[in-house]
Amino acid sequence: MANKQKDSRRANIPANNSFKNKETVKVHNGVFVYTRNMSVAELAKELNINATDIIKFLFLNKKMVTINQTLDDETIGLICLEFGYDFKKEKVVSEENFEEVEIVDKPEDLKPRAPIVTIMGHVDHGKTTLIDAIRSSKLVDTEVGGISQAIGAYQKEISGQKITFLDTPGHEAFTAMRSRGAAVTDIVVLVVAADDGVMPQTVEAISHAKAAGVPIIVAINKIDKEGANPEKLKNELMAYDIIPEEYGGQNIFCEISAKKKLGISELLEAILVVAEMLELKANPDRYAIGTVIEANLDKGEGPKATLLVQNGTLSFQDYVVVGTAYGKIRRMTNEYKKIVKIATPSTPVSVIGLSEVPNAGDHFMAFPTEKQARDIAMKRSLIKKQEELNSSGGASLDDLFNRIHEGEVSVVNIIIKADTTGSAEAIKSSLLKLNNEQVKLNIIHCTAGAISDSDIMLASASGAIIYGFNVRPSSTISQKAEQEKVEIRLHRIIYDLLNEMEAAMKGMLKKEKVESVTGQAEVRSLIKISKIGTVAGCYVTSGVIKANSNVRILRNGIITYEGKIKSLKRFKDDAKEVKEGYECGINIENFNDLKELDIIEGYEMVEKE
Ligand code: GDP
Repeated sequence: MANKQKDSRRANIPANNSFKNKETVKVHNGVFVYTRNMSVAELAKELNINATDIIKFLFLNKKMVTINQTLDDETIGLICLEFGYDFKKEKVVSEENFEEVEIVDKPEDLKPRAPIVTIMGHVDHGKTTLIDAIRSSKLVDTEVGGISQAIGAYQKEISGQKITFLDTPGHEAFTAMRSRGAAVTDIVVLVVAADDGVMPQTVEAISHAKAAGVPIIVAINKIDKEGANPEKLKNELMAYDIIPEEYGGQNIFCEISAKKKLGISELLEAILVVAEMLELKANPDRYAIGTVIEANLDKGEGPKATLLVQNGTLSFQDYVVVGTAYGKIRRMTNEYKKIVKIATPSTPVSVIGLSEVPNAGDHFMAFPTEKQARDIAMKRSLIKKQEELNSSGGASLDDLFNRIHEGEVSVVNIIIKADTTGSAEAIKSSLLKLNNEQVKLNIIHCTAGAISDSDIMLASASGAIIYGFNVRPSSTISQKAEQEKVEIRLHRIIYDLLNEMEAAMKGMLKKEKVESVTGQAEVRSLIKISKIGTVAGCYVTSGVIKANSNVRILRNGIITYEGKIKSLKRFKDDAKEVKEGYECGINIENFNDLKELDIIEGYEMVEKE
């Protein structure tokens, strides 16, 4: 297919520049559905009412309009409601937002494709060992054996059929791999150690798989160990609706030992059984569409990415658009470092030739001509720049969402700072899932680490809200945020963060109890006293530290402990509170692991204004 003359693949998007899915203006079941703004005359015609009635109604509402004046969304909504219609604005899918283009293949064009599998499970239950066992296993004679290139995904062949595995190495509660895996994954293999049972991340993995509607195969691991109890595990899992076939459920259970490589081929067979039921198909005869699995900047070769083809066929020398970048594929290799000319559906390949490093999880699309790819990439980057320009100055969540409801903004810029890369990426992908037609959450920055000066500046420049997960700003950073009018929202539970955002998007932020920081003290010295524990000699750097206060311990800006003050002393006496600029001794309930330069932050719960 490298020879373009013989290329029979169908383009996903027609080459003329006018690609758009249907413009809609219609009344359907009492709902006025439209895709573009229109004049009073047009609206009147569609709603089958008199234009003068609209003008009169608006006049009574202190809005003067002429018959040919284009109405904004809010006004269209008002008019619809006044005249007894509900209303809905639909997004027009055009070539530059190809992620939303619905690709429909004729049934006769569809060919079976390999299942894409993600391995999930609690930390230490044996995910990595299982991934390695599968990677290094030599299942058929034609296979080279151990895979030689880590590209984030690989294929294995068993009984003449292929299985694609996503290489998820994460131990984190919310790993990026897991969330992004769920978007492309057909089947989840849930690894549960038979000697440990159902653990928090087991439950999370189940939730992720269920939310994505992906079937789960349970791999009961470590059956070689003494104390392994598969039956107990089966019972435990039933509480989460994971029920073995033999009890009338939907889930296949495989007993394996990843370490001793027992039961691996049975597990692979089970994957094929489930895959067959799913009837996974794709059309190889179109230009490729898929997802970026991994990407990095290679010193010698430039941007390098692992692309997983999900539909169509990717060919050497194709023009590919990813994010706002595009490029011609200069080299394509598989997991054995072998050069391949084409990649069919469900095949992962490592490619070189993109102009920028894309983000993992980005969608890509291949195009027949450079011009088309370039034009679309340019439109995409223009839109992105526009979005960045549209927002300036700091933002508060309330303010932003008021403006959304007034139709002023439709993009909310967000910066995510979390304790680990895994949670940062997971928050990012979970937030992105909240995107709807009215509001787009735009994650402009997402990393692990404490909230920094440059985060505040970035937020201020792009009108972003900062979300901190398991991190705290220092008092100087808080002050700076206040100056720059940047809102920092802090959370310790991902679901709270998501719920808050969802509520805000619906305009329903409620009055709630929120934390109010009373002050911070820095640990300057430590004394260990038997029976009491560690007493920290502290200097109150801001505000006030109160006895019996809730406190958290910050080490390099990251929360390492949360609890209560047990005793607060000024010299030898108990103190009710100690103010900024004074020294004190602090002993924290059930926590003796303090280190010099730790920050002890006191806080209270107060009703939010
Ligand atoms: P992960 O955190 O889920 O990726 O778990 P790992 O693959 O790192 O495994 C955690 C520990 O369990 C390691 O020490 C492995 O050697 C061990 N382990 C994994 N699978 C088995 C198994 O089948 N049997 C036994 N006995 N140990 C295993």
